[in-house]
Amino acid sequence: MSKTLKLRLIKKRESYSFKQISELLCVHQRTVQAWKQEGLKTINDSKPFLVMGYDLQEFLNQKQQNRKCTLQENEFYCMKCRKAVKSLNNEVCIEVSTKTIGKHGFKALTVKGYCEFCNSLVNKFSHEGKLEEIKNTFNIVNLRGLGHE
Ligand SMILES: [Zn+2]
Repeated sequence: MSKTLKLRLIKKRESYSFKQISELLCVHQRTVQAWKQEGLKTINDSKPFLVMGYDLQEFLNQKQQNRKCTLQENEFYCMKCRKAVKSLNNEVCIEVSTKTIGKHGFKALTVKGYCEFCNSLVNKFSHEGKLEEIKNTFNIVNLRGLGHE
């Protein structure tokens, strides 16, 4: 279960550093960096990055809606296009985390692809137990971190 972020604490007209955002919302700075990868706008191009409050709010609102909207097995939510999209050529790369989830102890997976419309990185989370399904759904071009036994 992911906790609801305290969006009301964000002041629209203020700019925030990643550190400030992580303190304000009680998330790890790495999470904020991941948000930037996912499409969170910064007002500058070099470190330290600054994010406007309204961009942050909008991004997180989208993210929360995104969680509610159901995607087809072969779809991703593109933050830029703001809709469900497929990955370009249906190709994805899978990263396997060392974290396990659920009572079966499946390894968590991140399925990464590129939006068929705007070429942005899109991703979604899954787990090892769904690997067969994922293999049947996508053209997997790269699989990182899965067991060498
Ligand atoms: Zn897109």
